[in-house]
Amino acid sequence: MNRKIIVTGGCGYIGSHAVIQLIENQFEVVVLDNLSNSSEANLGRIKQITGKQPLFIKVDLSNSEATSKIFKRHNDALAVIHFAALKAVGESINIPLKYYHNNLNCLLNTLNSQTENGINKFIFSSSATVYGTPDELPITEKSITKQPSSPYGNTKKIGEEIIEDYCKTELNFSSISLRYFNPIGAHESGIIGELPKGIPNNLMPYITQTAAGILDKLKVFGGDYPTQDGTAIRDYVHVVDLAQAHIHALNRLLNQEQEASFETFNLGSNKGYSVLEMIQTFEAVSKVKLNYEITERRTGDITQLYASTKLAEEKLGWKAQRTIEEMILSSWKWEQNLLSKKNRK
Ligand code: NAD
Ligand code: UDP
Repeated sequence: MNRKIIVTGGCGYIGSHAVIQLIENQFEVVVLDNLSNSSEANLGRIKQITGKQPLFIKVDLSNSEATSKIFKRHNDALAVIHFAALKAVGESINIPLKYYHNNLNCLLNTLNSQTENGINKFIFSSSATVYGTPDELPITEKSITKQPSSPYGNTKKIGEEIIEDYCKTELNFSSISLRYFNPIGAHESGIIGELPKGIPNNLMPYITQTAAGILDKLKVFGGDYPTQDGTAIRDYVHVVDLAQAHIHALNRLLNQEQEASFETFNLGSNKGYSVLEMIQTFEAVSKVKLNYEITERRTGDITQLYASTKLAEEKLGWKAQRTIEEMILSSWKWEQNLLSKKNRK
């Protein structure tokens, strides 16, 4: 039976973990990636874990001709999971057109090429950033979406609007947009995990690289937020839980269980942790003292974000299972593995 799924951005952090889940759920995977923020080495890591290496095609999805050619060759695919995007918030503020060009063209070319070839199911990697500064907590899918604080975030909001419009006119087309909160952690084997190029922007890799001695000191952005300890609160979700949610969404599309042609779901843990709580938990599970200082706030940061994932529980049958300790410990195991094997690529 045909079980082919096209995964764009499948060499990246979340994509590679989703490919593992797809293979473990007996799907056949075709990975499309231009390796602009990832490494082909992840395909070998996927093989080490699953025993199978997915077919890989190096392609820039912002190139419409190249994208179209590949989809023609794989027109028997059942669905597309679209991870491919640039994601550095700060860079997107400095170079907005690079982000609009890449993220929106990748999306448009993928949508066009897949429907030209009769592939009518689509999962989109969206983000909690579409909620801007929320009016209510926890954030539900009914919370109003607002202009995000960065061009990167805006590519997610515009992306969702494009897909929703497309679903209205393209009658057989259906899509699920998954709004990730803060994905962290790594596969429990320690074989694969997040590998940011250059200095990390996100908290978790910054913590592990500081603890590993690669970076000197963690800056805690803001100690004067109106929270219990003055630092900002986020909803962290284990990347393996997140990857598994894609299987639930895919099955919902393949089994035609959708209630609307375009659906959105929050993927988080229903819980917020402050930056200081993350540091304390890291120190407790790793037994490593972290060098950090509290500095000024980072522009654009929001005080507090955490999800209600009730809808995902009810409709997708998915709920995050892994604790904050498991998330942090798996990130640390991966960082140590990188250090010991000198395979930082
Ligand atoms: P990542 O950078 O590790 O993975 C993205 C992949 O897309 C990379 O392998 C990159 O090489 C590829 N890519 C980018 N532009 C491409 C192009 N033009 N053609 C082909 N491939 C291209 O990022 P990630 O953390 O795995 O994120 C995956 C998706 O989830 C992205 O869409 C991201 O915006 C979204 N997301 C991530 C987070 C997060 O915190 N990591 C949060 C919310 C949403
Ligand atoms: N953060 C921090 N120092 C860092 C990176 C992040 O204090 O070096 C804080 C940041 O201000 C936010 C939280 O950690 O409150 C999560 O930040 P991240 O960039 O990982 O995710 P996002 O901003 O997208 O929620």
